[in-house]
Amino acid sequence: MSNNKVRKFVPRKKFCRFCADKNLVIDYKRPDILSQFVTERGKIIGRRITGTCAKHQRALTRAIKRARQMALMYYTTVHSTEVKKKTMSI
Ligand SMILES: [Zn+2]
Repeated sequence: MSNNKVRKFVPRKKFCRFCADKNLVIDYKRPDILSQFVTERGKIIGRRITGTCAKHQRALTRAIKRARQMALMYYTTVHSTEVKKKTMSI
């Protein structure tokens, strides 16, 4: 009989960085902060991984999308090199 319900895998306790630090603001003009929540390929990292709460994750995705439109952030790395090639050929 096995009564071992203790899980050996204990994930590190995640917390919302924006809730913890009031000085950390979600702003599309701050790609330095936003880039911490985006993969090197330009994908937004899910909140299951970052631990960001629902409220802040929503604000974060909006800020990232806005930053992309303002050309402060790249959509993907492939996209950025393609743009460079195009401008080079002109
Ligand atoms: Zn939060």
